[in-house]
Amino acid sequence: MLERTLVILKPDAVQRKLCGKIISIFEDAGFNIVKAKLLTPSKDLVERHYPNNNNWFIGAGNKSISNFKEQGLDIKEVMGSEDPLEIGKTIKKWLVEYMTSGPVMAMVLEGNNAVKNVRKMCGNTIPSNADPSTIRGRFSIDSSDVANAEHRPVSNLIHASGEVDEANYEISLWFGSENV
Ligand code: GDP
Repeated sequence: MLERTLVILKPDAVQRKLCGKIISIFEDAGFNIVKAKLLTPSKDLVERHYPNNNNWFIGAGNKSISNFKEQGLDIKEVMGSEDPLEIGKTIKKWLVEYMTSGPVMAMVLEGNNAVKNVRKMCGNTIPSNADPSTIRGRFSIDSSDVANAEHRPVSNLIHASGEVDEANYEISLWFGSENV
C-alpha cells in the first residue's frame, strides 16, 4: 500500500550533521522524498505536534517507568513522581523546549507501507534499547535515565509518524498550506 509519512530530523540530527546519512538510508530503502524543509519550529507547532491528551502522556510516562525498572533505578528520585501522567506531561514540556531550540528537517516520505516501514527503520524510542541496525540504534546510545536526570528529552535523532491517521494529521500540520 503506497503511503506517506512525516519524518522530522530533530535538532540533535541537524547539529551532528547526520541529515545526509539518514536521508540516504531512506533513499536506499526505496522511499521518495516528496517534500522537505529546514526550519526552527514555533512553540505552537510543536505543542500541536505532540498530542495534548492523557493517553499520549501516560504512554510516554510508562516508557520512562519501564526503562527505569529494567535498570533497577528509582524513577521517583529523578522525576519526583511515579505517576505516568505527570511524567508524560514533564516529557512533553521538555520536548517543546528542545524541538524549538534550533533547526529541524521536516520531510514527507512516500513508499510502500511507509508509516510502518519508516518506524521500523527508526527503531525503539530509547536508543540504548534500539537494534543497532536501526537509525536510533546506529547513531545514539541515549536512554531515559540519563535524559530524565538532565531534564531533556531522550536524544533519538528522529521522529516518524506512528499510525496512518497520525501521518495525515502531521503532514497537514507541517506542510498543510503547501499542497503536498
Ligand atoms: P516516539 O514516537 O518513538 O518518538 O516516542 P514518543 O512519542 O513516546 O515520545 C516522543 C519523544 O519524547 C521521544 O522521541 C523522545 O525524544 C522523548 N521521550 C520519550 N520517552 C522519554 C522518556 O522516558 N524520557 C525522556 N527524557 N524523553 C522521552
